[in-house]
Amino acid sequence: MRILVTNDDGIEARGLHALADALRPLGEVVIVAPDRQQSAVGHALTVSEPLRVTPVYAHGQHLGYAVTGTPADCVKLAVTTLLPWRPDVVASGINHGRNTAVNILYSGTVSAATEGTLLGIPSIAFSVDSYDPAAELAAAAAIARGLVELLPTLGLPPGTLLNVNIPALPPERIRGIRITRQGRSLWRDWYERRHDPWGREYFWLAGEYVLADGDPDADDIALTHGYVSITPIHYALTDMVTFERLRHHLATLSVPLSHSLGNAHGEAAQP
Ligand code: MN
Repeated sequence: MRILVTNDDGIEARGLHALADALRPLGEVVIVAPDRQQSAVGHALTVSEPLRVTPVYAHGQHLGYAVTGTPADCVKLAVTTLLPWRPDVVASGINHGRNTAVNILYSGTVSAATEGTLLGIPSIAFSVDSYDPAAELAAAAAIARGLVELLPTLGLPPGTLLNVNIPALPPERIRGIRITRQGRSLWRDWYERRHDPWGREYFWLAGEYVLADGDPDADDIALTHGYVSITPIHYALTDMVTFERLRHHLATLSVPLSHSLGNAHGEAAQP
C-alpha cells in the first residue's frame, strides 16, 4: 500500500509523525505537508505565489517534503506532480484539536482529505481531542493504522471521506467506536482588542466552543463521552430537502417571475 500523509499543523507537528510512524508497517509512506502551521485555512489553494518544496529527512531517511502552501495544495501537488506513484490512500492528521461539527468547514486537516477524494483517492482525516502538543496519541495512532488498512476495501462512494476524531485518552480508557453524523455545535466568537508596542490596535480571534446537545449520534457527543467518532462526509453542499421544496414552490409562482427565472426545471424562459 502507498500512503500519502499530510496535515495542517505543519511538518514539525508531533501528530503528523505519529501518523506516519503508525502507517509505515502498511507499506510505503511519504509525507507532503505544509512547512508551517496552517490550521483553519479550510480548502484554500495558493494561486498568486509559487510553491517551494523542501525535502525532509530524519536520521538520514527521506520522509517526504515540506511545502510553502496549504494542506489542499500539498495533496494536489503531491498527487498530480510530485510523487512518482499514485497513492492508494491519503491520510491527514493527526490534528491537534477536534474536527467536529462546524470545525469541519474550517479545517485544513479535513480539507486535505477532501482534496484526496476530489482526486479519486480513498481519504481519511484524523484528529485527537486535545490542543496539548504532548497529548496522548497512542490510541489515535492505533485507530489510524487499522482504518487506513481497511479504507480501500470499504467501498466508499466517490467524494465520500471519513472524518475520525479520537479522545485524548490512553487506549484502555476509550469506550469504543461510534459511527456519527456532523453535529451542530458552534463557536461563540469574539475578537480580543489589543494594542501593539506602538499603541496601534489589533484584533485576535478568540471564542468558546458551545456543545449542541440532544443528538446522541452527533460527532461531538460521542467524542465527549469517550468514543472514537467516525463520520462519513461529502463536500456536496446542496440542501436536497430545500432543493425539492423550492422546485415545487417555484413551479407554482406567478407568470412574470417564472418567465424571468425560467421554469422549475431550470430551462430557459421562452420569450
Ligand atoms: Mn490543525
